[in-house]
Amino acid sequence: MKDQNFLKANNARSFWHPMTHPADSLKNAPTIITGAKGVRIRDIDGHEAVDAVGGLWNVNLGFSCDVVKQAIAAQLDRLPYYSTFRGTTNDAVIELAEELRLFFEPDGLSRAFFTSGGSDSVETALRLARQYHKVRGEAGRVKFLSLKKGYHGTHIGGASVNGNANFRTQYEPLLPGCFHVPAPYTYRNPFNEADPARLAQLCLAALEDEIAFQGAGTIAAFIMEPILGAGGVIPPHHSFMPGVREICTRHGILLIADEVITAFGRTGAWSGSRLWGVQPDMMCTAKAITNGYFPFGAVMISESVAQVFERDETGRAAIGHGYTYSGHPVGAAAALACLAETQRLRVNENAAARGAELHAGLLALQGRHEAIGDVRGGHGLMLALELVADRATKKPADKAVPARVQQVAYQEGAMVRVSGANIILSPPLILTSGDVQVILSALDAGLSATG
Ligand code: PLP
Repeated sequence: MKDQNFLKANNARSFWHPMTHPADSLKNAPTIITGAKGVRIRDIDGHEAVDAVGGLWNVNLGFSCDVVKQAIAAQLDRLPYYSTFRGTTNDAVIELAEELRLFFEPDGLSRAFFTSGGSDSVETALRLARQYHKVRGEAGRVKFLSLKKGYHGTHIGGASVNGNANFRTQYEPLLPGCFHVPAPYTYRNPFNEADPARLAQLCLAALEDEIAFQGAGTIAAFIMEPILGAGGVIPPHHSFMPGVREICTRHGILLIADEVITAFGRTGAWSGSRLWGVQPDMMCTAKAITNGYFPFGAVMISESVAQVFERDETGRAAIGHGYTYSGHPVGAAAALACLAETQRLRVNENAAARGAELHAGLLALQGRHEAIGDVRGGHGLMLALELVADRATKKPADKAVPARVQQVAYQEGAMVRVSGANIILSPPLILTSGDVQVILSALDAGLSATG
């Protein structure tokens, strides 16, 4: 590693940071992380903090998972790369596909298409959805529906179904034929409805309306996160996703669950779809599939969708889509080790238990800090605080406020993430009760500093 002076002097000089104004990184030097162990990260100045962001919602097993590192090293040594394009494959990816089939059996998903990350997984699912209808002879089903506030990555297809203007406006025009319906966001919604069950019904009715307006026969798929993540951790009422499933089935629309964050235990269940008792037609995964140790993803496909492709005799089901790194053997080896460790440690159960402690602690903080307008959580280790300038009017906090909370919380030993007026928490699923207390007292200090 180069010395401290070199790293600090060149910090943001020669590359642009994702999701950041290039001038910002030059003015406010990004924190240089140089090491990590367990759930803790260490910066260039030797300061340590519990990583309440979990890398970027992905390092579920923490940073020192030796079995994953060893699996990667062994695979690199034996076969660092071989393609899965037509005619060849590799042993690691065959084994992984079988393990994923078993893992996702309760979700009704039995085939995998491998990708290099979450945005690739979303793009893959959107393409396969259109192709599915073409293979079936319904070539007019090309549109996509999604939720406002949803986040589906950054490719043009994903940005087109994204429900947040920040990720769209600068890149328009996006894909035509993508339409958005209201999300069941209890704290703020166009219906002014504060009851989650009634709000779920209103949102389902809005989805029905949009389908009728567009014409069901023009719609390929509805894509949704089982719990909205980047949009501010917004869990729906438990009736919402089953309601979406029923509507999609009735209209012949595929349901794509974007589980890039929620798959592999984060919500306390093994998948977000399973949390709500729903079987999607396709599921996008990435992030915790390799815990951040290797860029990798998989789209899981239901048996009924798979049958349409596999029984095709017209040639229309030939897949004209794939990545050089689809089924990368090192990624597959990493994923196999992560999947085994994830199940051995039953991290979903720890996510549920530590998530409940963190949620209770955040509600207690809300009693002490006027700036907390809303506390969201209750489903494992994905939680958020929404900060406001005034609780009565729900006017969002000035952006300096969450930034200050983040800064002080970091000094006090916890790295948290800011998204708009939200403080987002998505720590590793191996968190202990002691770590929960560190996060809560760091947030308490951060909120006190802004009070
Ligand atoms: N879909 C969801 C739900 C996500 O949260 C993300 C990333 O946070 C993506 C897709 C895009 O994944 P990636 O950043 O790996 O491309």
